[in-house]
Amino acid sequence: MNKEALNGLFRPKGVAVIGASNKAGKIGYSVVEALKNGKYEGDIFPINPKEPEIQGLKAYTSVLELKGKIDLAVVTVPAHLVLGALEQCGEAGVKGVSVITSGFGEVGDHETENKLVETCRKYGMRLLGPNIIGSLSNSDKLNASFAPVLPLPGNGALISQSGALLIALDAGTYLRGVGFDKLFSLGNMADVDFADIIEWLEDDPATRCTALYIEGLKDGRRFMEVCKNSKKPVIALKSGVSAHGAAAAASHTGSLAGAAKVYGSAFEQAGVIQATDLDNLFDVTQAFELQPPMEGDNLVIVTNGGGVGVLATDSAEKFGVPLQFLPKEMQEEMKHYMPEFGSAKNPVDITGGAGLEGYKKCIAFGLQHEWTDGMAVLYCETAVTNPQEIAEGIYGAIEEAGEEILAHKPITVSFVGGERCATAMRWLSDHGIPAYDDPARAISAIAALRQYARLQAAKAADSADTFEVDREKALSIINAARADGRDALTEVEAKQVFKAYGLDATTTLLARTEDEAVELAHQAGYPVVMKIVSPDILHKSDAGGVKVNVKDDDMVREWFRKIMENAKNYKADANIHGIAIQEMAPLGTEIILGSINDAAFGPTVMFGLGGIFVEVLKDVTFRVAPVSKAQGMKMQEEIRAAKILAGARGEAPRDREAMAETIAKYSQMIWDLRDEVKESDANPVMLYEQGKGLKVVDARIILKKK
Ligand code: ADP
Ligand code: MG
Repeated sequence: MNKEALNGLFRPKGVAVIGASNKAGKIGYSVVEALKNGKYEGDIFPINPKEPEIQGLKAYTSVLELKGKIDLAVVTVPAHLVLGALEQCGEAGVKGVSVITSGFGEVGDHETENKLVETCRKYGMRLLGPNIIGSLSNSDKLNASFAPVLPLPGNGALISQSGALLIALDAGTYLRGVGFDKLFSLGNMADVDFADIIEWLEDDPATRCTALYIEGLKDGRRFMEVCKNSKKPVIALKSGVSAHGAAAAASHTGSLAGAAKVYGSAFEQAGVIQATDLDNLFDVTQAFELQPPMEGDNLVIVTNGGGVGVLATDSAEKFGVPLQFLPKEMQEEMKHYMPEFGSAKNPVDITGGAGLEGYKKCIAFGLQHEWTDGMAVLYCETAVTNPQEIAEGIYGAIEEAGEEILAHKPITVSFVGGERCATAMRWLSDHGIPAYDDPARAISAIAALRQYARLQAAKAADSADTFEVDREKALSIINAARADGRDALTEVEAKQVFKAYGLDATTTLLARTEDEAVELAHQAGYPVVMKIVSPDILHKSDAGGVKVNVKDDDMVREWFRKIMENAKNYKADANIHGIAIQEMAPLGTEIILGSINDAAFGPTVMFGLGGIFVEVLKDVTFRVAPVSKAQGMKMQEEIRAAKILAGARGEAPRDREAMAETIAKYSQMIWDLRDEVKESDANPVMLYEQGKGLKVVDARIILKKK
């Protein structure tokens, strides 16, 4: 990363506005106005060859007059003038250009966009945009954008691929009471992208966490790498997760949006918290801005109302922090602070009768108890309590716990009621306690703090597994198929590649004649499975090309002829290599393993239950390759059918260890062979009960075209 150039972009010592204007309504007007209103402390240099003065500032005809005085140039001139402007910026020693102008990659003009990047590279400048709003920073008093105001101050940063959304969210910070120190608009991401800014923010003292609005990543691997290494939480909202939405996003920014599930998995692997919608993005970001991660599962809920308590309990389960009853001695102590009919189990329900004192005592005691890892405080507005007094009381009780405890036990609050509650909640947020108008929101926010700590721990414990593999062998098989003019391997070849990577596939031999088939069947041992081998027939069953449970020589001969005939009927000109003879594997739980080359993340593994579960329920999960055994175990827990693998209804659990190892090896195979393999699958894998392993009975590899 060119850190100095990014400093120039985001923390400039002088700003030029190329295309500055005196006409209200022009972007070149708004940017100068925004810089002035933001109280930028460096020099502002409006550039306009026709005006001597812009909004009371001396104007210049060109940046060339200002050599060495400008770090950042904000470019607002029409598209056809941008390239020339960047040349001049380079000449003038500008470090970063923020190109607001649109009309490049997003409308199909990639050629000019590439030229902008080349020009910047030539001069060592970094380019934000084009097609953006700009960037804003409270701590630098820099509003280098055409958004009218700096955001409500806060501890977070927000990076948005969409510019219009950024302006809207900027205004929204005031309404929501969720502040940000910095906002960045990325637009076409011709140069500077999410990863660059997340990396740059690592050293920014004003930023505690970063929220992202993502339509599509160009370099998903680098994004993951940077997020994995980031010491600050990253929260991402990915749009375009529906099939239709993906199409909309792609045409919007000119970048490809990948499959929703792949993004979800990549976020998880990189330790990124995924937000579900805009409200949730704000809710969770606010929690990270104000509170520490939650280091254990023990959440205490304190409430004055049974209803909100139950709602919060439901949410806790839904968001992955299921409530546990408090230890007996905690319950006994809490009992003293509430009326007889209260409950100290968890939620701790002090009831409407306990009033402020009950809250204070339960909160102070609960937070200080070593069992507690985090706390959610709920309040229902009542006739006899004053929300503001309750808020202040709650705050006081929290403060009593002291800095050391508060540094690692997060708290969220929910007040349900009217305007007085809204005011009291704003007061709490202003005092560092995130407060939400719905218990579900308070719980989902604290659950995100829990998830973050969990992902960090998983990241620290995860290590890549490496296996003994025979890459040369795999490549020689691939090259032989290529020499034959093919980009699909036959099952026989694919299984050889699988075996070179230590995957347990059925031994599969090719018979070209009936006699050969009988001989190989003897070698494999009856019963055997017979399958058509043709690069032109990928779905063998569809062609009547698979016969299982072939029991003797006569059957082999009979089916050799039938399968050949079926194949010819299916595709008259199919190139037929022969018929594969293989051992018949016992029936197991049918699994599908697959791999794709995701547009953003590259080689990615898919795992799920085979058969109807894949086709109808799409019960599959993804990981960006390579995948560790530990992640392979997690994948098996993630699918909806996880309980089947764990051994449902008296069935023995499946051999999940063997499955995890197979996932890891398979992922290493597609990662190692990424320049060759476009997609592949093992469908099905027969997975047996614990200790009995598995068998890959069908394998497919499609090569990249070369
Ligand atoms: P395709 O997917 O091309 O139609 P498969 O090789 O997957 O062909 O065979 C179809 C089905 O036959 C598999 O889903 C599996 O149920 C069964 N099968 C295939 N090979 C074997 C084998 N070696 N042992 C046991 N069953 C097999
Ligand atoms: Mg198959």
